[in-house]
Amino acid sequence: MADPQRDARHAARMARKKEIIDAAIAAATDERGLLIVITGNGKGKSTSAFGTIARALGHAMKVGVVQFIKSRTDTGEEAFLGKQPGVEWHVTGDGFTWDTQDREQDIATAQRGWAIATRMLADPSYQLVVLDELTYLLSYGYLDSDSVLDALAHRPAEQHVIVTGRGASDALIDLADTVSIIADEKHAYRAGIKAQPGIDL
Ligand code: ATP
Ligand code: MG
Repeated sequence: MADPQRDARHAARMARKKEIIDAAIAAATDERGLLIVITGNGKGKSTSAFGTIARALGHAMKVGVVQFIKSRTDTGEEAFLGKQPGVEWHVTGDGFTWDTQDREQDIATAQRGWAIATRMLADPSYQLVVLDELTYLLSYGYLDSDSVLDALAHRPAEQHVIVTGRGASDALIDLADTVSIIADEKHAYRAGIKAQPGIDL
């Protein structure tokens, strides 16, 4: 129902809100590469990073990806994003620790993956670097946390980095510019539904 008074109050409220939002936008003038950490137990960490890759490619940015832990190379993300011009995609894992059951091998694999990551983190031509599931290598102690934080902190100034994985350390969270902790409210897996192509892989 028409309510001119209510409409006028709404317009005035929105005008005030716009002033506040415009001021905040005007105050945010810095421009530099961001470190983004997507952690927590809920689903959506890696897929968030993959969505950002699509966004970056829309701006013709060069993207480097290292997928730690994972061994499968039949994922939808690799089949599609890994084939895009401007994307360099590495899958360096041997699988989960309970599959490999070999700590020495896991450490060697982690270090191989990290060597690729450090090369990217030292090269400003990569405008976005995604380090998928990196957190596990830190929590298992496969990589030296200080060296990892140091490489992240000293990367090229304009380079964006996304780190995904559960259990991000306080030090990594402190270093990051943007941190999202995805909560596990519900997951289809617990209702007995197996991993679905296009959704989970
Ligand atoms: P996604 O790649 O779907 O964004 P994720 O990166 O947040 O998941 P990971 O732990 O890396 O989470 O997930 C690896 C696989 O485990 C994915 O197939 C994902 O759907 C599934 N998964 C993620 N979170 C949960 C959960 N809370 N319970 C069961 N399975 C999960
Ligand atoms: Mg993931």
